[in-house]
Amino acid sequence: MADIARIDRPPRISKDAASLRPKPHLLDRAAIRETFRWSDARRQLAGMTNNGLNIGAEAADRHAHGTRADHPAIIWLGVDGARQVITYAELHRRSNRFANAITSLGLKRGDRLFLLAPRIPALYVAALGALKAGVVVSPLFSAFGPEPIATRMNLGGGRALLTTAALYARKVAPVHGQIATLEHVLLAGGAGDAPLPPGGHDLDALLSQAAEDFATVATRPDEMALLHFTSGTTGKPKGALHVHEAVVAHYATGLYALDLHPEDVFWCTADPGWVTGMSYGIVAPLVHGVTMIVDEAEFDPQRWYRILQDEQVTVWYTAPTAIRMLMKAGAEVASEFRFEQLRFIASVGEPLNPQAVWWGQDIFGLPIHDNWWQTETGGIMIANTVAQDIKPGSMGLPLPGIEAFVVQRRNGGVDVVEKPDTEGELALRAGWPSMFRGYLNDDERYRKCFVGDLYLTGDLVKCDADGYYWFVGRADDVIKSAGHLIGPFEVESALMEHPAVAEAGVIGKPDPVLGETVKAFVSLKPGFSESDELRRELLGHARKRLGPSVAPKEIDFARSLPRTRSGKIMRRLLKARELGLPEGDTSTLEADK
Ligand code: ATP
Ligand code: MG
Repeated sequence: MADIARIDRPPRISKDAASLRPKPHLLDRAAIRETFRWSDARRQLAGMTNNGLNIGAEAADRHAHGTRADHPAIIWLGVDGARQVITYAELHRRSNRFANAITSLGLKRGDRLFLLAPRIPALYVAALGALKAGVVVSPLFSAFGPEPIATRMNLGGGRALLTTAALYARKVAPVHGQIATLEHVLLAGGAGDAPLPPGGHDLDALLSQAAEDFATVATRPDEMALLHFTSGTTGKPKGALHVHEAVVAHYATGLYALDLHPEDVFWCTADPGWVTGMSYGIVAPLVHGVTMIVDEAEFDPQRWYRILQDEQVTVWYTAPTAIRMLMKAGAEVASEFRFEQLRFIASVGEPLNPQAVWWGQDIFGLPIHDNWWQTETGGIMIANTVAQDIKPGSMGLPLPGIEAFVVQRRNGGVDVVEKPDTEGELALRAGWPSMFRGYLNDDERYRKCFVGDLYLTGDLVKCDADGYYWFVGRADDVIKSAGHLIGPFEVESALMEHPAVAEAGVIGKPDPVLGETVKAFVSLKPGFSESDELRRELLGHARKRLGPSVAPKEIDFARSLPRTRSGKIMRRLLKARELGLPEGDTSTLEADK
């Protein structure tokens, strides 16, 4: 029998908070939560005349003058080995040029610009410049196919698109005629050998003619700034509308969840096509004036470890899927590198198995800090933070300014659950600045998310006696078996403790007697092969860890699990395939590698 990995680690990772350097912003969590006011956080930002507030200006301009002007804002690493440093002064000028360029094309406040580009500097400049011009930005993931692009641009009424000639040819040209609102196509790097498409412009030429000064549009705090599509994990992606004052939450969470200090080198590995890549891969680090790493390349273990080492990354924000892939690659790969500068690692997007938290401790000497939020919340809400103890497997504690509750729905209302360790839906008191203000073209769905002043997140959680939140599962994924409610996360985490398991996805399968039975799909680490013996071993391991009523009755091996392009396991697809049902919207499904 294979060695079971060290599953019986202590339930808590204690922090010696007073000795941490730099001094954590959230050292005294209780005191800060007590006195924290969003209005105070807002006053830390520059703001504008007439009470205006603009995300683009706070990010690109706040540090562009004075002592921070020459500080690197972006260190861009190209696929081919190129390295470009963009200072805050430069980012200010470039984003101004972009704002002038689109204004000269006739784009106005409230118009919508879609972004479809690899992680190249032009993408970052465009996002910031458009926001400064009052133009609403909607990022798309560059790996989307033509149909998802057309659908989202039509839904969002995209008037302009920033892309590259190569992406245009492959992804937009086939559907251009279907996007009725599209007037301008801005090609970063020009059109190359191809003719310009209808409404096409060579962005580089436009920028070279544009002025470096631009008076930012004095957008209202509650004016629409960003349109983000959700990951599509549970169904058709929804368009979440966000406003300029979201930047207040990006700023405050940059302080308290990510503990950003001016000399930090920060790397958020998320693509700006997703909300994480915008809120924390662009806005928060720039508002804080830190240096952020942008890597154009796709995931590769060696490359990632090298970036952490060579760029001397201090704060790293990544996702469970990436961590699982690094774990799968093995500790030997990491052992060639040194991570002396790294002081804080955080993760978001999916539940983070305790195994992964400990893996961080083993590889980097630092645990991974899980945090929770969603497209709709616009920023981090619940987090394990630098100075607070971690309970591996828990997503942490609510941040300053965030009031979280566990609730149970009843007769159109909700009951707040006071008893610790009781399952219920996670609810948040509405009113934080990055809260979404609507679902695109779906007011009813938006209204249904609220009961009184509580926003219901659709995620099931428990809160323990110390106030730590534990993810149970998405409301849609929870399995009901013989009267038990079973969260897939718990089962998946137990399976992941086994050294053969790289990844696990768990679903409920209809059963005439039990209601549902638990079925698991697992992919194996290199060096392990599928066999009935291993299957039996895994079933036995799960039964020992979870007890017979929660453990899976069935395990299938899978080479890989279906996931969204943002890296989330799509349990609904595992289920549909198992039951032979229609797969539904698969626009965000990552191609099998
Ligand atoms: P869709 O809403 O289209 O089905 P999605 O919910 O995956 O997709 P996102 O907004 O990108 O779209 O993801 C937010 C969700 O991801 C959360 O509601 C939660 O279910 C999950 N999630 C995020 N962070 C965590 C975490 N730390 N632990 C557990 N789950 C998490
Ligand atoms: Mg969701």
